[in-house]
Amino acid sequence: MIKEEDIQNIRRQADIADIISHYIDVQKNGRNYKAVCPFHDDHDPSLSISREKQIYKCFVCGSGGNVFTFVQKYENVSFTEA
Ligand SMILES: [Zn+2]
Repeated sequence: MIKEEDIQNIRRQADIADIISHYIDVQKNGRNYKAVCPFHDDHDPSLSISREKQIYKCFVCGSGGNVFTFVQKYENVSFTEA
């Protein structure tokens, strides 16, 4: 039986802003977070991260998705560059 407390912990640990911040620099931007997009040649933080919806979206190159999409895509990019 999973306690409500455990579910909350899992949710907190899987927070998209926290996880993305392990890979790139994330800045708080009001209720959301923003970051320099790793998926195109970005200079201004174009990547917007919604903690509320647990999604990210880049307004320049259009990449977006959930935390799993981000990690998968990010690891592909770094793999290609390595
Ligand atoms: Zn982008």
